[in-house]
Amino acid sequence: MEGSRTGLPGDYSGRLDLQSADESLRRRVATERLRAHIELVATSSPFYRERFSRLGLKPENLRSLEDLKRFPLTTKDDLNRFNDDFLAAPPESIADVCLTSATTGTPTRLLQTASDLSRLAYNEEIAFAMAGIGPGDTVLVSAAADRCFMAGLAYFLGGVSLGCRMVRCGSGSPAQIWELIRVTTPTVLVGVPSLLLKTALFATEAGFEPSRYGIKKLLAIGEAIRSPDLKLLPAAARNEELWGAPIHSTYASSEMATTFAECGHRCGGHLRPELIHLEILGDNGEPVGPGEPGEVVVTPLGVTGMPLLRYRTGDIATLITDPCPCGRTTPRIGPVAGRKDQMLKYRGTTLFPGTLLGAVEGTPGVAGGYVEALLNPDGTDRVILHLAAEMSGAVPEAGIRELLRARARVIPEINWITPEQYHEISTGSGKRKRILFIDSRGKQ
Ligand SMILES: [Zn+2]
Repeated sequence: MEGSRTGLPGDYSGRLDLQSADESLRRRVATERLRAHIELVATSSPFYRERFSRLGLKPENLRSLEDLKRFPLTTKDDLNRFNDDFLAAPPESIADVCLTSATTGTPTRLLQTASDLSRLAYNEEIAFAMAGIGPGDTVLVSAAADRCFMAGLAYFLGGVSLGCRMVRCGSGSPAQIWELIRVTTPTVLVGVPSLLLKTALFATEAGFEPSRYGIKKLLAIGEAIRSPDLKLLPAAARNEELWGAPIHSTYASSEMATTFAECGHRCGGHLRPELIHLEILGDNGEPVGPGEPGEVVVTPLGVTGMPLLRYRTGDIATLITDPCPCGRTTPRIGPVAGRKDQMLKYRGTTLFPGTLLGAVEGTPGVAGGYVEALLNPDGTDRVILHLAAEMSGAVPEAGIRELLRARARVIPEINWITPEQYHEISTGSGKRKRILFIDSRGKQ
């Protein structure tokens, strides 16, 4: 299938993305795409050239999809430590410098060619189209495009490509976002759901009714909006109620350079097989079955600046293979349960900080929160849910315990903090992302 202005094959502007029902044909196409990608990294990327040579691997070792596991995984730490060695294109062809956060304190650079930017535009264009956004929509993006962030840039390029009017709001305060909404009258809001909710609450408190401002769609980025059974989390439901518009989930990261977007049926983000190869792996490195949680491992296809092979995202999610009512036959990815390195062992169950926060955020009276893990003397995890009340003195403790019991199935220690303390620790200025989790287990 040819069809897009970028020259990339595949879907365009919401056309259905159908895979062949023939399993063997599907696997052959996926193998050919991966083989071409491995040839590219083997010849052009010093990092992979060295690693393949050390392991005695050649592109022709990939004869079927099963052979992919012979090829090494790439970690966030590899990308950070050997950053320069990932450059696979002539330095003069780099058009954009993107930075991502890293554990070492030195950010990781993701260098993008002009062709990578076209690919990014194509990716975001079809992600928007998948969610039902199209020409004639005015899209306000409350995600940063400055300070070398990729997200805001990708939304801008994709929206322009699709024929939308773009409002580059950036990651402002609720007051700034609301002001721009009033001035530019967008039909679509793109942003982190917790920030969209804060904006709606800010507007409501100021005496406005956000649902009367013509917003037709909310596109959530950066945070899960559904529980693993695909039900809307309370904060997402409250967003829908206050804005009077449906919320769609997207899942993406700078390293992936690809978006998994929900269609109108909103039951998991559709895979774009021409843009990314997806694996979901268990602790033993083997793929897990549909519906089973595992680590998301991606091979973004068609990236030329810093191509990656089998990149470990650290995110835990599940694969959904049931047919989608929209008719697309590609698999989908379920909500991200959390980060692999933030997995907690609590009273015999596995727990993610996001599960606790997702259960209670959006509840009237709760301004937000974060989770802290400490170590009990017996070696088990001690989990504290720090919550900020919207107004001091009005702590909805009983209701919160009930919600945790029903939605997270555990009730950890709850510690109430002031909105100021919450802002200072979780969302204060200078933080690239909201802090959801503090791991104090190694510091006692
Ligand atoms: Zn669908």
